[in-house]
Amino acid sequence: MLAQAASRIGLNCHVYAPEPDSCAFDVVKRATLAAYEDQDKLAEFARTCDVITYEFENVPAHTANFLAQRKPVLPDPKVLALTQDRLIEKDFIEKFGIATAPYAAVGDAAQLFEAAHKIGLPAILKTRRLGYDGKGQQKIDAGGDPAAAWLALHRASCILEGFVPFEREISVVVARANDGTLRSFDVTENEHRDHILKVSRAPATVPSAVAGEAVRIAEAIASAFDYVGVLAVEMFVLRDGTAQRVLVNEVAPRVHNSGHWTIDGCTVSQFEQHIRAIAGWPLAQPIRLGQVEMTNLIGAEASDYARWLTIPGASLHLYGKGEPTPGRKMGHVTRVLPE
Ligand code: AMP
Repeated sequence: MLAQAASRIGLNCHVYAPEPDSCAFDVVKRATLAAYEDQDKLAEFARTCDVITYEFENVPAHTANFLAQRKPVLPDPKVLALTQDRLIEKDFIEKFGIATAPYAAVGDAAQLFEAAHKIGLPAILKTRRLGYDGKGQQKIDAGGDPAAAWLALHRASCILEGFVPFEREISVVVARANDGTLRSFDVTENEHRDHILKVSRAPATVPSAVAGEAVRIAEAIASAFDYVGVLAVEMFVLRDGTAQRVLVNEVAPRVHNSGHWTIDGCTVSQFEQHIRAIAGWPLAQPIRLGQVEMTNLIGAEASDYARWLTIPGASLHLYGKGEPTPGRKMGHVTRVLPE
């Protein structure tokens, strides 16, 4: 989707990916299939590019740094280091006075005991690295056994997070240009099923003060990271008496699934904003085109794609990922209704 957005504004992409079935290979001018450790291929790739970006936060730090010695890598690889590790990310966010769920580091059995005591149960144990879509997470119910949960995560380095009784989940997708200009999309409301994003709706049904606070938080994080490109911040909205509060759950240093609605539902997509930012172009001022609902097609749901083709106002996207596997995001459908 990034490559398609780049192509629309006359820019060519060269994709580097270690997976033979990477769906970006189908839509780019040049493609390199090679490992993140292959320095010859990385050097050759860098030689052909003016600027390099990534859409996956688990690109190894040494790969990003190797490329950054040859061509500009945006967002800066230091952002990867910050966001690849849940503990480092949360410490960084807290330092800026932005609220998150209560958390504590778990590196050994004593720390697990201390963390459970400090945070209380229910709580969620999350691996510090490489977790997504609920993978690398174990919920510990009230009265549950933290040691069993930790064992299920192979005693990896973790954080224990207090369980947040949220009213809703929202996210803000924000673009930041190299001159510091910020452009946020309207706040999106997200519904997860089995820990996987199922539906995103824009605008979120939150009072304008909550939406304003969410945007302020996302823009503060983008500025604190000295970020160039598109960044997403996932947040919990919880009720605090009669007021509502916003807590940061997670930061994604990339275009984000909850921003996919912007392709069909907005005058500029998150993908084009990202390309503009890294190319040093001015950012667009996004204008939403109506009430937007984006539904992910997960696993076998994508095989039933034909039913969307004739639904008025529905735009179908299939990623060309091959055979569907359970839990894998295979495509999405966006519907835009006039307001
Ligand atoms: P994550 O991978 O951290 O984004 O978590 C995936 C999903 O699990 C979130 O979107 C929430 O629905 C749920 N979740 C994660 N952390 C918490 C928490 N501390 N309290 C309640 N639900 C959570």
